[in-house]
Amino acid sequence: MATLFTGGCVCGAIRYEVNAEPIMMFNCHCRDCQRTTGSAFTPVVYVPAKAFKITKGSPHYYSTPSDMAGHNKRGFCPECGSRLFGGASETGQGVAASSLDDPSLFKPQLHMWASDAQPWDAMDPELPKFEKYPPS
Ligand SMILES: [Zn+2]
Ligand SMILES: [Zn+2]
Repeated sequence: MATLFTGGCVCGAIRYEVNAEPIMMFNCHCRDCQRTTGSAFTPVVYVPAKAFKITKGSPHYYSTPSDMAGHNKRGFCPECGSRLFGGASETGQGVAASSLDDPSLFKPQLHMWASDAQPWDAMDPELPKFEKYPPS
């Protein structure tokens, strides 16, 4: 299958590609996403695990506790520290939308962990918001 989108970290040491349509796109406002990104939320493109491939470099990982999966293995570049991946499971893999070569492909469908959202974080009033995770 043809590659649909590509991305990587700011220094170029880590590159990846995805060859299937995303399962879901969302903004996660949890405290761990805030701390690991240094921002108000992580914009996530959640793709089929089988369609995701790291094509250059070896990310480092740091796991945070997760109510849904037990832990969330968060990937980042060991050279430049860019946050790249998270939420890996049997079926899916999350990539940070900001790391896409064309971030305009990101079309968020919902906000999750709205319970942790900061007062200075403006959420899209048109999109559904979930206190924690959306019902699966
Ligand atoms: Zn890097
Ligand atoms: Zn999060």
